[in-house]
Amino acid sequence: AKKQRLDKMLSHIGVGSRSDIRKIAKQGLIHVNGAVVKDSGIHFDPYNDKVEVNGEVVTYREYIYLMMNKPPDVLSATEDKRDRTVLDLLKPEYAQFEPFPVGRLDKDTVGLLLLTNDGKLAHELLSPRKHVPKIYEATVEGEVDADDVAAFAAGVELEDGYVTLPAQLTILSRERGTTTISFISLIITEGKFHQVKRMFQAVGKKVTFLKRVSMGELKLDENLALGAYRELTKEELNLLS
Ligand code: URA
Repeated sequence: AKKQRLDKMLSHIGVGSRSDIRKIAKQGLIHVNGAVVKDSGIHFDPYNDKVEVNGEVVTYREYIYLMMNKPPDVLSATEDKRDRTVLDLLKPEYAQFEPFPVGRLDKDTVGLLLLTNDGKLAHELLSPRKHVPKIYEATVEGEVDADDVAAFAAGVELEDGYVTLPAQLTILSRERGTTTISFISLIITEGKFHQVKRMFQAVGKKVTFLKRVSMGELKLDENLALGAYRELTKEELNLLS
């Protein structure tokens, strides 16, 4: 996780001025992970390090990392005139950190959405050059078959002429009826607008339900109900950074 300067954090939470904090440190009253720290200018890891002043644990985080199971009908934006956004679902104690969604899911798409105020991490996850894999599960109208698997592996041409990078399509199951329905999972390593829907459109099929289940090493916690969210554990955060 991103490091923070110790004296800056302690003055921010009202322990004293930076020079007060320097003195307190010199007196041996500040501990990080149980060891005396006499230099208050060091950097610490707010997620993994335990900071104590005068024997009391202090916590303050500059960065917040939330995993949400995005519900349908809510926009993955920070504000909107008409619709509710994912930020409207957060408790005020989190809103004060001013988190934003890392990337966009369509209004009707559900599943894993990371919210953070760590712009650097967001950039690393979204940078087109990094090719962070994202796994989706979808319900598709029509019979998804081996030809589609091969087409997705080779790259399909979207309606605007863009050819997608190789993507791994797995057929999970099918329901045969008047119209066949296919359940699939798909791994893509880019994030064009409406990408999954447009890839199926390119092979003449329609996505009727879409859920993101992972982003990089981070997996959706299936215990989160639609609209629920929680902070990442430090293990999860370490997977991302
Ligand atoms: N692809 C889509 O078509 N929609 C999403 O929300 C995410 C990926």
